[in-house]
Amino acid sequence: MSEYADVIIDISRENLDHVFEYRIPAHLADEIYPGVLVKVPFGKGNRFLRGFVVEVKGTAEFDESKIKEIASVETGSVAIESQLISLAAWMRKNYGATMNQALKTVIPVKRKIKAKEKRMVVLCMEEKEAKEQLLLFQKKHHTARERLLQELLEHPRLSYEIVTQKLNISSAVIHALEDMQIVRTERELQYRNPTCLLQNKTTPIRLNDMQKRAVDTVLSDLHQGVHKTYLLHGVTGSGKTEVYIELIADILKEGRRAIVLIPEIALTYQTVMRFYGRFGERVSIMNSRMSQGERYDQFLRAKNGEIDIMIGPRSALFTPFFNLGLIIIDEEHEGSYKSEILPRYHARETAIERARAAGASVVLGSATPSIDSYYKAKTGEYHLIEMKNRVSKKPLPSCEVVDLREELKKGNRSILSVRLQTLIADRLAKKQQIMLFLNRRGFSGFVSCRACGYVMKCPHCDVSLSLHREAAGEKLICHYCGYEEEKPRACPKCGSNYIGGFKAGTQMIECVVGKAFPQARMLRMDFDTTRSKDGYERILSAFANHEADILIGTQMIVKGHDFPNVTLVGILAADLSMNVGDYRAAERTFQLLTQAAGRAGRGREFGEVVIQTYNPEHYSIEAAKEQDYGKFYRSEIAVRKLASYPPVSNMLLLLLTAEREEEAEYEAAYLAALVAKAKIEGLKIIGPASAAVGKVKDIYRKVIYFKHRDYAQLVELKDRLELFFKKRTDRKQVNVSFDFNPLNGI
Ligand code: ADP
Ligand code: ZN
Ligand code: ZN
Repeated sequence: MSEYADVIIDISRENLDHVFEYRIPAHLADEIYPGVLVKVPFGKGNRFLRGFVVEVKGTAEFDESKIKEIASVETGSVAIESQLISLAAWMRKNYGATMNQALKTVIPVKRKIKAKEKRMVVLCMEEKEAKEQLLLFQKKHHTARERLLQELLEHPRLSYEIVTQKLNISSAVIHALEDMQIVRTERELQYRNPTCLLQNKTTPIRLNDMQKRAVDTVLSDLHQGVHKTYLLHGVTGSGKTEVYIELIADILKEGRRAIVLIPEIALTYQTVMRFYGRFGERVSIMNSRMSQGERYDQFLRAKNGEIDIMIGPRSALFTPFFNLGLIIIDEEHEGSYKSEILPRYHARETAIERARAAGASVVLGSATPSIDSYYKAKTGEYHLIEMKNRVSKKPLPSCEVVDLREELKKGNRSILSVRLQTLIADRLAKKQQIMLFLNRRGFSGFVSCRACGYVMKCPHCDVSLSLHREAAGEKLICHYCGYEEEKPRACPKCGSNYIGGFKAGTQMIECVVGKAFPQARMLRMDFDTTRSKDGYERILSAFANHEADILIGTQMIVKGHDFPNVTLVGILAADLSMNVGDYRAAERTFQLLTQAAGRAGRGREFGEVVIQTYNPEHYSIEAAKEQDYGKFYRSEIAVRKLASYPPVSNMLLLLLTAEREEEAEYEAAYLAALVAKAKIEGLKIIGPASAAVGKVKDIYRKVIYFKHRDYAQLVELKDRLELFFKKRTDRKQVNVSFDFNPLNGI
């Protein structure tokens, strides 16, 4: 049987799906696979052009008699594209998607981009004079001016963007300082680093013994040419970031490159500056708000060797570094490392595959590793490195649990327990800061009728609408599709006036705290206050500047921020995330609690944490209270074993979507029966059933889960199903997609 290959001639063109079919001559059969660079005859004159093989297949889609043959395989210089295309093929195979979807994920598309003007804010005053000016600002309480000048004294050139967006300083303030001839703004017509530009480098921190051991473990392997995946389990504040920096410094000495993945939400000014401070302009930063063009430009700089380190969220993993030596994944337990769009890859596994092919090492870091990774570390697949203490022996905060049922018995109906109120008053008196954390899941302020129980739902999605207070009045918003409506005065079902909201969680807390402590200055961080472009960064920097005493927020506030003045963290309803009914609920609860607790006591003062819960005896709460990861792991892995959940077993989710519910239902039942008939040994089939959210944007969603110990078996099942879908012509109205070991309840 002859085989065929899809070849891309110009990989940088917009149209990645523009592939050409070629026949593979028998003598080349063993050498052709995705990623290989070949020479092919092209066009009428059969000019010889170079192209990349993206897929190999048994049958041709075009007229076989007209298909030309691949002329030769190009040997010698290997292009970075080859590595990325074979990575795409691996992703396609292991996660299920079309090759085109996989290619689009790994290869940025070229768009016409205008050279952008880069504006810089530059200090144009002698240091001595600037320091005097700084004192003046301090005296006059010109906090924004003070902050900008302070920053410029450390970094005399800052990009306009970083000043306005990350430092939260308005252009009016910059103008004012310009008029005073303290700063000037410069324009650079050049496509430069989007984030900032710095000259002065900070001197490296001396690592403590624990950190040194971690670094040595990785480096001694590396210097012997051994590349592994390491799981760096270090408590919050144990100095993991410094370990990363040291490892990168070593990699660079060998002329190799590094990729650092950080969840977008933790990619703050503080973090960014630590890497810039050490590596200066060799660092580049990506974020998801960048346009395609900007992203392409970043990748081009990486390819041309202008940078050595790329920092960014999930997609930074595909930075085209040829000589890749190290991939770091910070906060490796974060859900955002799993893609929600096809191919639904996990950045962790994909990073390990990329590193394997490139001969690079992978370091996964977390204070609360995912159960998946810890299991792999325990079973020898990853190499476990532990850092059990905070830097400079700063103690972990002390944690206490308050049983909310007892509070109720004592007659306290407030969301704030008596103990927490006492501690808040104490901290306010001491002028220390407080963070109040609300576990948002399952508490999104829905609106219901107290007479008939009717719940206001989105007409397009199978979820309840959330109540939001805005200046203009009360609104109901769907968090899935953005649908909005006015809050009705009467129940649409029974007409009663008793329709009302459980007020949106964080807003309610703001009200309650405001009444109890009228003197306290509060900031709130949630869906509403961070909807504007830089809302998130602005609130964080305001809190860091002690413009508020209390920060109230959802999961957003627990991510890796260093607020040295925070000495009290209150977790208001710890167990709400436990009722969401997916098998990772306990894991997420433990992670959230531990990360939230880790925000306390990072400065000179000792930190305290209060966990309020209705389930004090639940193992995730008990382990979080003791900040004992090992204890949590042992309980959780036992549960996973008992129920055959990942990582002990593997899961493949088949998601079926259709405009008409019966279509989706019929297809789901048909497929489940089909797979059952195949009698695959060790395979469990669960469903079909409606997805947890059964309808989104008027599209119905049905699911079937397959469980098997062996991931490869599930991949094979997926391959067979894919083949089946390709061959059949009916039921095109139902869209089917795959998700391996899904993270969120679909
Ligand atoms: P993690 O990433 O584990 O939460 P960080 O790397 O952010 O910890 O370190 C916490 C704090 O301790 C940071 O302010 C960092 O600058 C500081 N730090 C880290 N390592 C050292 C060290 N060896 N000596 C002094 N300070 C350190
Ligand atoms: Zn009603
Ligand atoms: Zn909706």
